[in-house]
Amino acid sequence: MLPRDPDSAASKANAERPVPASRPLILITNDDGYDAPGLQALIGSVAALGRVVVSAPDREQSGASHALTLDRPLRVQTVAEDRYRIDGTPTDCVHLAVDRLCGRLPDLVLSGINRGLNVGDDVTYSGTVAGALEGALLRIPAIAVSAALPPEGPIDYTQAARIACRLSERILADGLTRGTLLNVNVPAGPAKGIRVTRQGTREYRATAVERTDPAGRPYYWIADIDMTPTGEPDGDHTAAADGFISISPLHTNMTHERSLESLAHWVEGLL
Ligand code: MN
Repeated sequence: MLPRDPDSAASKANAERPVPASRPLILITNDDGYDAPGLQALIGSVAALGRVVVSAPDREQSGASHALTLDRPLRVQTVAEDRYRIDGTPTDCVHLAVDRLCGRLPDLVLSGINRGLNVGDDVTYSGTVAGALEGALLRIPAIAVSAALPPEGPIDYTQAARIACRLSERILADGLTRGTLLNVNVPAGPAKGIRVTRQGTREYRATAVERTDPAGRPYYWIADIDMTPTGEPDGDHTAAADGFISISPLHTNMTHERSLESLAHWVEGLL
């Protein structure tokens, strides 16, 4: 934070203006990059709720997952007051903003609105979910918001922006279980309702497509990921397929609880 000059006109004006005791501070990131329309929709949806700080990657970071950049410096471009483009991942953006740019701990971290759903095992690849996850790790309530791709044409982010705003209002008032985030996925058409879901699973057939570059050398592009949802009735992908908004509470702990006991038997006598 820049040191404030107590004699400046701005400081005097601020001193006279009744400032709400607790004006919420909302930090926003995404993984589609600073210029993505989904980010602008999310900013607009919560602009009236408090001070909004935007700290987003300067380019697409979809698939970046929870990567933290440790092998090079990060550069911050200040676009305007409280608006930052960073040459890093969504996790870098949240971490840097909380440590250096916000001036105090944010009350809420929002990530999105992602172009495309983040359901099932996709969650482990998602930079959008990771942005919110970083908030949860820093003990800040967090929401990741993703919107389904329509069969054709651009995404209409209106519905996703509205639910993001409603959830933000609720969390700013009531809080969220410490260390958790909400992963919200919004269908392309008008939602039939809201379902509280769990992270589902999918059968993965990731395809590395081979092509040849102009020099005759092969290159590969992980492009077509053919995913078959399994039939979990309470899974996030099922809600999306049924036309519902899904809200899944997630946390960072990846321990598979049910395996603890069987694994303890399994390792007996290994040494
Ligand atoms: Mn994305």
